[in-house]
Amino acid sequence: MPMYRQSFLLTLVFFLLTFSVAEAQNYQRQRAEMVESQIRGRGIRDPLVLEAMNSVPRHLYLPSAQQRFAYEDRPLPIGFGQTISQPYMVGFMTEVIRPQKEFRVLEIGTGSGYQAAILAEIVDHVYTIEIVDPLGERAKNLLNRHYDNVSVKLADGYYGWEEHGPFDAIVVTAAAEYIPPPLIRQLKDGGKMIIPVGSPFRVQQLMLIEKKGEEISSMALMPVRFVPFTSSD
Ligand code: SAH
Repeated sequence: MPMYRQSFLLTLVFFLLTFSVAEAQNYQRQRAEMVESQIRGRGIRDPLVLEAMNSVPRHLYLPSAQQRFAYEDRPLPIGFGQTISQPYMVGFMTEVIRPQKEFRVLEIGTGSGYQAAILAEIVDHVYTIEIVDPLGERAKNLLNRHYDNVSVKLADGYYGWEEHGPFDAIVVTAAAEYIPPPLIRQLKDGGKMIIPVGSPFRVQQLMLIEKKGEEISSMALMPVRFVPFTSSD
């Protein structure tokens, strides 16, 4: 190869590398700001949650056209009519289950995979189910590249994932008209479930369900708007 061409290529590689390092640093700065203002600033205090949200590159879980909005204070489209939740909602839902290192958590609605990644930073194992195959496939590839403690299944989450239950916590990220009974069965004694309940496209209530022996308690935490929980039937 002629010398001039070689040095041109080297210069090109140098610029590309500089550009990608600068871009990564830029995203890292935006992420730190997001955690300060949107997460800690609104009362999320669990250091495990704050640390996880500081370290997971949220932009990687978005289609490329959406990546530059990754750290904004809103949900974003991820294709197939679905959305990645607003960062605060992810922080809130993660904190409310009081995640511990030894937890096995079930998530319904993998979507982008971002919520699963946040959980995987904190807990022992995350089982996550997605009903839209191409979304599930995309998230599975991404999550498998970064984590060895996440299992993704393409199925209707209504039925849960019985062979891996019971779970310390269940996080449902699509709004159901009622709480699927199989999910209550697959919750451990003392376990917590967070789930938006209500009609599709209307304001729903984010409910915290706790199981204590035979007793199931539920508490409405805040009005929310999630994409609907769909069914395979
Ligand atoms: N946790 C996701 C949020 C995705 S939005 C994230 O961090 O990006 C909710 C997701 O729930 C959508 O991807 C939707 O396809 C999925 N979903 C809806 N009904 C479902 C069902 N019955 N079983 C599994 N996933 C479902």
